[in-house]
Amino acid sequence: MTDTASRPKLPLLVLGQGTDLHTERGVECPGDLPPASDPELVERARAAKAALGDRVFVLGHHYQRDEVIEFADTTGDSFKLAKEAAARPDAPWIVFCGVHFMAESADILTSDDQTVILPDLAAGCSMADMAAIDQVEDCWDDLVEAGIADRVVPVTYMNSSAAIKAFTGRHGGTICTSSNARTALTWALDKAGDGGKVLFLPDQHLGRNTYARDLGGPLEDCVVWDPHKPMGGLTPEQLDAATMILWRGHCSVHGRFSVEAVEAARRDIPGVKVIVHPECRHEVVELADEVGSTEKIIKTIAAAPAGTKWVVGTELNLVRRLGQQFPEQQISFLEKNVCYCSTMNRIDLPHLVWALESLVEGRVVNPIRVDPDVAHHARIALDQMLALPGETHKD
Ligand code: SF4
Repeated sequence: MTDTASRPKLPLLVLGQGTDLHTERGVECPGDLPPASDPELVERARAAKAALGDRVFVLGHHYQRDEVIEFADTTGDSFKLAKEAAARPDAPWIVFCGVHFMAESADILTSDDQTVILPDLAAGCSMADMAAIDQVEDCWDDLVEAGIADRVVPVTYMNSSAAIKAFTGRHGGTICTSSNARTALTWALDKAGDGGKVLFLPDQHLGRNTYARDLGGPLEDCVVWDPHKPMGGLTPEQLDAATMILWRGHCSVHGRFSVEAVEAARRDIPGVKVIVHPECRHEVVELADEVGSTEKIIKTIAAAPAGTKWVVGTELNLVRRLGQQFPEQQISFLEKNVCYCSTMNRIDLPHLVWALESLVEGRVVNPIRVDPDVAHHARIALDQMLALPGETHKD
Protein backbone atom coordinates (compact mmCIF):
# COMPACT_ATOMS: atom_id res chain seq x y z
CA MET A 1 0.00 0.00 0.00
CA THR A 2 1.29 3.49 -0.73
CA ASP A 3 0.66 6.38 1.62
CA THR A 4 0.83 9.71 -0.16
CA ALA A 5 0.55 11.92 2.95
CA SER A 6 4.25 12.73 3.10
CA ARG A 7 6.99 12.58 0.54
CA PRO A 8 10.60 12.96 1.58
CA LYS A 9 13.10 14.52 -0.78
CA LEU A 10 15.12 11.68 -2.24
CA PRO A 11 17.33 11.41 -5.27
CA LEU A 12 15.80 9.46 -8.12
CA LEU A 13 16.13 5.77 -7.58
CA VAL A 14 17.36 3.65 -10.40
CA LEU A 15 14.14 2.08 -11.54
CA GLY A 16 13.37 -1.22 -9.93
CA GLN A 17 16.17 -0.94 -7.38
CA GLY A 18 15.82 -0.15 -3.73
CA THR A 19 12.71 0.78 -1.83
CA ASP A 20 10.98 4.14 -1.72
CA LEU A 21 7.46 3.59 -0.49
CA HIS A 22 6.58 7.26 -0.21
CA THR A 23 7.17 8.60 -3.69
CA GLU A 24 6.11 8.05 -7.26
CA ARG A 25 9.35 6.20 -7.78
CA GLY A 26 7.94 2.91 -6.61
CA VAL A 27 9.55 -0.17 -5.18
CA GLU A 28 10.91 -3.47 -6.21
CA CYS A 29 8.12 -5.81 -7.16
CA PRO A 30 7.76 -8.28 -4.29
CA GLY A 31 5.74 -10.74 -6.33
CA ASP A 32 6.58 -14.16 -7.62
CA LEU A 33 6.21 -13.13 -11.24
CA PRO A 34 5.92 -15.60 -14.07
CA PRO A 35 8.91 -15.32 -16.42
CA ALA A 36 8.40 -13.13 -19.50
CA SER A 37 9.35 -16.14 -21.65
CA ASP A 38 6.48 -18.27 -20.33
CA PRO A 39 4.60 -19.33 -23.49
CA GLU A 40 1.43 -19.73 -21.42
CA LEU A 41 1.25 -16.08 -20.35
CA VAL A 42 -1.46 -15.01 -22.80
CA GLU A 43 -3.58 -18.03 -21.93
CA ARG A 44 -3.05 -17.44 -18.19
CA ALA A 45 -4.12 -13.79 -18.52
CA ARG A 46 -7.24 -14.86 -20.45
CA ALA A 47 -8.10 -17.55 -17.92
CA ALA A 48 -7.64 -15.25 -14.92
CA LYS A 49 -9.71 -12.52 -16.49
CA ALA A 50 -12.47 -14.97 -17.36
CA ALA A 51 -12.47 -16.35 -13.81
CA LEU A 52 -12.79 -12.84 -12.37
CA GLY A 53 -15.53 -11.80 -14.80
CA ASP A 54 -17.21 -8.47 -13.94
CA ARG A 55 -15.42 -8.28 -10.60
CA VAL A 56 -12.36 -6.85 -12.35
CA PHE A 57 -12.12 -3.91 -14.72
CA VAL A 58 -8.81 -3.46 -16.55
CA LEU A 59 -7.83 0.03 -17.71
CA GLY A 60 -5.08 0.53 -20.30
CA HIS A 61 -3.39 3.87 -20.93
CA HIS A 62 -2.61 4.67 -24.57
CA TYR A 63 1.13 4.41 -23.87
CA GLN A 64 0.98 0.83 -22.64
CA ARG A 65 2.51 -2.10 -24.48
CA ASP A 66 0.39 -4.03 -27.01
CA GLU A 67 0.60 -7.18 -24.88
CA VAL A 68 -1.12 -5.29 -22.05
CA ILE A 69 -3.58 -3.29 -24.16
CA GLU A 70 -4.89 -6.63 -25.46
CA PHE A 71 -6.39 -7.27 -22.02
CA ALA A 72 -7.72 -3.78 -21.35
CA ASP A 73 -11.49 -3.40 -21.04
CA THR A 74 -11.06 0.21 -22.11
CA THR A 75 -8.20 2.44 -23.25
CA GLY A 76 -7.70 6.17 -22.92
CA ASP A 77 -5.71 9.02 -21.45
CA SER A 78 -5.33 9.40 -17.71
CA PHE A 79 -8.45 11.45 -17.07
CA LYS A 80 -10.69 9.38 -19.31
CA LEU A 81 -9.51 6.24 -17.55
CA ALA A 82 -10.12 7.68 -14.09
CA LYS A 83 -13.65 8.59 -15.15
CA GLU A 84 -14.17 5.14 -16.65
CA ALA A 85 -13.11 3.60 -13.34
CA ALA A 86 -15.59 5.80 -11.47
CA ALA A 87 -18.32 4.73 -13.88
CA ARG A 88 -17.87 1.06 -12.86
CA PRO A 89 -19.01 1.04 -9.22
CA ASP A 90 -19.91 -2.66 -9.44
CA ALA A 91 -16.33 -3.77 -10.07
CA PRO A 92 -14.58 -4.23 -6.73
CA TRP A 93 -11.16 -4.36 -8.39
CA ILE A 94 -9.79 -1.86 -10.88
CA VAL A 95 -6.48 -2.98 -12.40
CA PHE A 96 -4.83 0.18 -13.70
CA CYS A 97 -2.30 -0.42 -16.46
CA GLY A 98 -0.69 3.01 -16.42
CA VAL A 99 1.46 4.87 -13.93
CA HIS A 100 1.18 5.67 -10.24
CA PHE A 101 -0.42 9.13 -10.37
CA MET A 102 -3.16 7.77 -12.63
CA ALA A 103 -3.95 4.98 -10.20
CA GLU A 104 -4.10 7.58 -7.41
CA SER A 105 -6.62 9.66 -9.38
CA ALA A 106 -8.69 6.55 -10.00
CA ASP A 107 -8.63 5.77 -6.28
CA ILE A 108 -9.78 9.32 -5.48
CA LEU A 109 -12.65 9.13 -7.98
CA THR A 110 -13.84 5.60 -7.13
CA SER A 111 -15.86 4.53 -4.11
CA ASP A 112 -14.33 3.36 -0.83
CA ASP A 113 -15.31 -0.25 -1.46
CA GLN A 114 -13.37 -0.39 -4.72
CA THR A 115 -9.66 -1.11 -4.82
CA VAL A 116 -7.33 0.22 -7.49
CA ILE A 117 -4.37 -2.02 -8.28
CA LEU A 118 -1.16 -0.99 -10.04
CA PRO A 119 0.49 -4.17 -11.36
CA ASP A 120 4.00 -2.78 -10.79
CA LEU A 121 4.59 -0.12 -8.13
CA ALA A 122 7.75 0.94 -9.96
CA ALA A 123 5.55 2.37 -12.71
CA GLY A 124 5.94 5.99 -11.65
CA CYS A 125 6.27 9.16 -13.71
CA SER A 126 9.42 11.24 -13.84
CA MET A 127 7.41 14.42 -14.45
CA ALA A 128 5.24 13.86 -11.37
CA ASP A 129 8.41 13.20 -9.36
CA MET A 130 9.79 16.61 -10.33
CA ALA A 131 7.33 18.30 -7.95
CA ALA A 132 7.60 16.83 -4.45
CA ILE A 133 5.05 18.15 -1.97
CA ASP A 134 7.61 19.64 0.41
CA GLN A 135 9.21 21.53 -2.49
CA VAL A 136 5.83 22.90 -3.51
CA GLU A 137 4.97 23.88 0.08
CA ASP A 138 8.36 25.64 0.32
CA CYS A 139 7.59 27.49 -2.90
CA TRP A 140 4.24 28.63 -1.52
CA ASP A 141 5.91 29.85 1.70
CA ASP A 142 8.31 31.87 -0.45
CA LEU A 143 5.42 33.38 -2.41
CA VAL A 144 3.75 34.31 0.88
CA GLU A 145 7.00 35.91 2.06
CA ALA A 146 7.27 37.80 -1.23
CA GLY A 147 3.79 39.18 -0.59
CA ILE A 148 2.23 37.78 -3.75
CA ALA A 149 0.63 34.47 -2.69
CA ASP A 150 -2.81 36.07 -2.39
CA ARG A 151 -2.60 36.91 -6.10
CA VAL A 152 -1.50 33.42 -7.18
CA VAL A 153 -3.86 30.66 -8.35
CA PRO A 154 -2.35 27.18 -8.77
CA VAL A 155 -3.13 25.16 -11.89
CA THR A 156 -1.88 21.60 -11.69
CA TYR A 157 -1.60 19.16 -14.53
CA MET A 158 -3.23 15.78 -14.05
CA ASN A 159 0.28 14.30 -14.26
CA SER A 160 1.10 14.98 -10.62
CA SER A 161 0.96 13.19 -7.31
CA ALA A 162 -2.23 13.24 -5.23
CA ALA A 163 -0.39 15.38 -2.68
CA ILE A 164 0.17 18.13 -5.26
CA LYS A 165 -3.45 17.91 -6.37
CA ALA A 166 -4.45 18.31 -2.70
CA PHE A 167 -2.18 21.38 -2.39
CA THR A 168 -4.02 22.81 -5.40
CA GLY A 169 -7.39 22.15 -3.78
CA ARG A 170 -6.28 23.79 -0.53
CA HIS A 171 -5.20 26.94 -2.35
CA GLY A 172 -8.26 27.46 -4.53
CA GLY A 173 -6.80 26.17 -7.77
CA THR A 174 -7.79 23.63 -10.38
CA ILE A 175 -6.48 20.50 -12.05
CA CYS A 176 -6.15 20.51 -15.83
CA THR A 177 -5.51 17.95 -18.55
CA SER A 178 -3.72 18.47 -21.84
CA SER A 179 -7.10 18.84 -23.53
CA ASN A 180 -8.64 21.43 -21.20
CA ALA A 181 -5.53 23.40 -20.17
CA ARG A 182 -6.68 26.46 -22.12
CA THR A 183 -10.03 26.60 -20.31
CA ALA A 184 -8.38 25.97 -16.94
CA LEU A 185 -5.77 28.66 -17.47
CA THR A 186 -8.33 31.20 -18.64
CA TRP A 187 -10.40 30.50 -15.52
CA ALA A 188 -7.35 30.80 -13.23
CA LEU A 189 -6.09 34.05 -14.77
CA ASP A 190 -9.55 35.49 -14.44
CA LYS A 191 -9.74 34.40 -10.81
CA ALA A 192 -6.26 35.83 -10.10
CA GLY A 193 -7.45 39.23 -11.39
CA ASP A 194 -5.41 42.25 -12.47
CA GLY A 195 -1.75 41.70 -11.67
CA GLY A 196 -2.55 38.14 -10.65
CA LYS A 197 -0.46 35.09 -11.45
CA VAL A 198 -0.76 31.39 -12.06
CA LEU A 199 1.57 28.84 -10.50
CA PHE A 200 1.57 26.07 -13.11
CA LEU A 201 2.64 22.61 -11.88
CA PRO A 202 4.56 20.46 -12.71
CA ASP A 203 5.04 20.67 -16.52
CA GLN A 204 6.61 23.93 -17.61
CA HIS A 205 6.07 23.08 -21.28
CA LEU A 206 2.32 22.55 -21.06
CA GLY A 207 2.02 25.77 -19.04
CA ARG A 208 4.12 27.81 -21.46
CA ASN A 209 2.50 26.35 -24.57
CA THR A 210 -1.00 26.95 -23.26
CA TYR A 211 -0.28 30.54 -22.25
CA ALA A 212 1.74 31.57 -25.30
CA ARG A 213 0.27 29.45 -28.07
CA ASP A 214 -3.35 29.01 -27.04
CA LEU A 215 -3.94 32.31 -25.24
CA GLY A 216 -1.49 34.43 -27.21
CA GLY A 217 0.34 35.64 -24.09
CA PRO A 218 3.90 37.00 -24.42
CA LEU A 219 6.67 34.56 -23.50
CA GLU A 220 8.26 37.30 -21.40
CA ASP A 221 5.36 36.90 -18.94
CA CYS A 222 6.62 33.41 -18.07
CA VAL A 223 9.27 32.68 -15.45
CA VAL A 224 10.52 29.25 -14.38
CA TRP A 225 10.56 28.32 -10.69
CA ASP A 226 13.55 26.08 -9.96
CA PRO A 227 12.79 24.19 -6.73
CA HIS A 228 16.49 23.53 -6.19
CA LYS A 229 17.35 27.23 -5.87
CA PRO A 230 16.47 29.78 -3.15
CA MET A 231 13.31 31.68 -4.13
CA GLY A 232 13.10 29.45 -7.19
CA GLY A 233 16.13 31.24 -8.64
CA LEU A 234 14.01 34.37 -9.22
CA THR A 235 14.32 37.96 -8.04
CA PRO A 236 11.37 39.75 -6.38
CA GLU A 237 11.16 41.95 -9.49
CA GLN A 238 10.94 38.95 -11.82
CA LEU A 239 8.24 37.39 -9.66
CA ASP A 240 6.31 40.61 -9.47
CA ALA A 241 6.40 41.13 -13.24
CA ALA A 242 5.47 37.52 -14.13
CA THR A 243 2.01 36.26 -15.02
CA MET A 244 2.98 32.59 -15.33
CA ILE A 245 5.20 30.98 -12.71
CA LEU A 246 6.11 27.69 -14.36
CA TRP A 247 7.38 24.83 -12.22
CA ARG A 248 10.65 23.46 -13.56
CA GLY A 249 9.31 20.05 -14.55
CA HIS A 250 8.98 18.24 -17.83
CA CYS A 251 8.17 14.88 -19.38
CA SER A 252 11.29 12.80 -19.98
CA VAL A 253 9.78 11.49 -23.21
CA HIS A 254 8.06 14.51 -24.79
CA GLY A 255 10.77 16.93 -23.63
CA ARG A 256 13.22 15.17 -25.93
CA PHE A 257 11.57 15.87 -29.27
CA SER A 258 13.68 18.44 -31.09
CA VAL A 259 13.44 21.23 -33.64
CA GLU A 260 16.04 19.34 -35.71
CA ALA A 261 13.75 16.31 -35.90
CA VAL A 262 10.85 18.44 -37.15
CA GLU A 263 13.10 20.07 -39.75
CA ALA A 264 14.45 16.68 -40.86
CA ALA A 265 10.91 15.31 -41.25
CA ARG A 266 9.87 18.26 -43.37
CA ARG A 267 13.00 17.86 -45.50
CA ASP A 268 12.74 14.08 -45.92
CA ILE A 269 8.97 13.59 -46.27
CA PRO A 270 7.45 16.09 -48.72
CA GLY A 271 3.93 17.11 -47.72
CA VAL A 272 4.26 15.68 -44.21
CA LYS A 273 2.12 16.96 -41.35
CA VAL A 274 3.71 17.20 -37.93
CA ILE A 275 1.50 16.51 -34.92
CA VAL A 276 2.87 16.72 -31.38
CA HIS A 277 1.75 16.63 -27.76
CA PRO A 278 1.74 19.93 -25.79
CA GLU A 279 4.23 18.45 -23.31
CA CYS A 280 6.83 19.05 -26.05
CA ARG A 281 9.11 22.08 -25.83
CA HIS A 282 7.69 25.39 -27.04
CA GLU A 283 9.97 25.69 -30.06
CA VAL A 284 8.87 22.22 -31.24
CA VAL A 285 5.19 22.99 -30.71
CA GLU A 286 5.61 26.25 -32.63
CA LEU A 287 6.84 24.33 -35.68
CA ALA A 288 4.11 21.68 -35.62
CA ASP A 289 1.01 21.66 -37.83
CA GLU A 290 -1.19 20.23 -35.08
CA VAL A 291 -0.85 20.09 -31.31
CA GLY A 292 -3.01 18.08 -28.96
CA SER A 293 -3.54 15.49 -26.26
CA THR A 294 -3.16 11.80 -27.04
CA GLU A 295 -6.91 11.55 -27.58
CA LYS A 296 -6.79 14.48 -30.00
CA ILE A 297 -3.83 12.99 -31.86
CA ILE A 298 -5.75 9.74 -32.31
CA LYS A 299 -8.91 11.50 -33.49
CA THR A 300 -7.04 13.80 -35.88
CA ILE A 301 -5.24 10.93 -37.56
CA ALA A 302 -8.39 8.80 -37.66
CA ALA A 303 -10.24 11.62 -39.44
CA ALA A 304 -7.50 12.33 -42.01
CA PRO A 305 -7.87 11.13 -45.61
CA ALA A 306 -5.99 8.06 -46.84
CA GLY A 307 -2.50 8.89 -48.04
CA THR A 308 -1.87 11.60 -45.41
CA LYS A 309 1.71 11.61 -44.22
CA TRP A 310 2.26 12.18 -40.49
CA VAL A 311 5.19 12.39 -38.16
CA VAL A 312 3.97 12.08 -34.60
CA GLY A 313 5.63 13.42 -31.46
CA THR A 314 4.25 11.36 -28.61
CA GLU A 315 4.96 8.06 -26.87
CA LEU A 316 6.24 5.35 -29.18
CA ASN A 317 3.81 2.56 -28.21
CA LEU A 318 0.90 4.77 -29.29
CA VAL A 319 2.60 5.86 -32.52
CA ARG A 320 3.35 2.23 -33.45
CA ARG A 321 -0.26 1.26 -32.82
CA LEU A 322 -1.52 4.19 -34.90
CA GLY A 323 0.67 2.95 -37.75
CA GLN A 324 -0.93 -0.50 -37.47
CA GLN A 325 -4.48 0.85 -37.15
CA PHE A 326 -4.24 3.26 -40.08
CA PRO A 327 -2.12 1.49 -42.72
CA GLU A 328 -3.68 3.68 -45.43
CA GLN A 329 -1.79 6.62 -43.93
CA GLN A 330 1.97 7.03 -43.68
CA ILE A 331 2.75 7.39 -39.99
CA SER A 332 6.27 7.90 -38.64
CA PHE A 333 7.77 8.57 -35.23
CA LEU A 334 9.21 12.07 -34.90
CA GLU A 335 12.52 11.44 -33.23
CA LYS A 336 14.91 8.55 -33.62
CA ASN A 337 16.62 9.37 -30.30
CA VAL A 338 13.46 9.02 -28.21
CA CYS A 339 12.35 5.67 -26.83
CA TYR A 340 9.36 4.31 -24.91
CA CYS A 341 8.31 5.80 -21.61
CA SER A 342 10.34 3.50 -19.37
CA THR A 343 7.98 3.75 -16.41
CA MET A 344 4.86 3.05 -18.49
CA ASN A 345 6.66 0.02 -19.85
CA ARG A 346 7.20 -1.38 -16.36
CA ILE A 347 3.70 -2.83 -16.69
CA ASP A 348 4.15 -5.94 -18.77
CA LEU A 349 2.31 -9.22 -19.20
CA PRO A 350 4.06 -11.01 -16.30
CA HIS A 351 3.01 -8.23 -13.89
CA LEU A 352 -0.54 -8.19 -15.25
CA VAL A 353 -0.83 -11.98 -14.97
CA TRP A 354 0.56 -11.83 -11.42
CA ALA A 355 -1.97 -9.16 -10.40
CA LEU A 356 -4.91 -11.00 -11.99
CA GLU A 357 -3.98 -14.48 -10.75
CA SER A 358 -3.46 -13.09 -7.26
CA LEU A 359 -7.01 -11.73 -7.33
CA VAL A 360 -8.29 -15.15 -8.43
CA GLU A 361 -6.55 -16.59 -5.37
CA GLY A 362 -8.17 -13.93 -3.17
CA ARG A 363 -5.03 -11.79 -2.71
CA VAL A 364 -5.01 -8.08 -3.57
CA VAL A 365 -1.51 -7.04 -4.58
CA ASN A 366 -0.23 -3.48 -4.98
CA PRO A 367 -3.37 -1.60 -3.90
CA ILE A 368 -3.15 2.17 -4.30
CA ARG A 369 -4.80 3.97 -1.40
CA VAL A 370 -4.57 7.72 -1.13
CA ASP A 371 -4.59 9.18 2.38
CA PRO A 372 -8.21 10.34 3.09
CA ASP A 373 -7.27 13.97 3.87
CA VAL A 374 -5.12 14.17 0.72
CA ALA A 375 -7.91 12.56 -1.29
CA HIS A 376 -10.47 15.04 0.09
CA HIS A 377 -8.50 18.11 -1.00
CA ALA A 378 -7.39 16.57 -4.29
CA ARG A 379 -11.04 15.88 -5.03
CA ILE A 380 -11.83 19.57 -4.49
CA ALA A 381 -9.30 20.48 -7.19
CA LEU A 382 -10.59 17.75 -9.52
CA ASP A 383 -14.18 18.86 -8.98
CA GLN A 384 -13.13 22.44 -9.76
CA MET A 385 -11.84 21.18 -13.10
CA LEU A 386 -15.17 19.52 -13.82
CA ALA A 387 -16.95 22.78 -12.94
CA LEU A 388 -14.90 24.89 -15.37
CA PRO A 389 -17.06 26.97 -17.73
CA GLY A 390 -18.41 24.79 -20.50
CA GLU A 391 -16.15 22.00 -19.36
CA THR A 392 -16.63 18.42 -20.26
CA HIS A 393 -13.72 16.18 -21.00
CA LYS A 394 -13.98 16.67 -24.75
CA ASP A 395 -11.32 14.31 -25.98
S1 SF4 B 1 5.15 9.82 -20.92
FE1 SF4 B 1 6.04 11.46 -19.63
S2 SF4 B 1 4.33 12.30 -18.42
FE2 SF4 B 1 3.67 10.29 -19.29
S3 SF4 B 1 4.14 8.80 -17.66
FE3 SF4 B 1 5.92 8.85 -19.04
S4 SF4 B 1 7.30 10.38 -18.08
FE4 SF4 B 1 5.26 10.68 -17.16
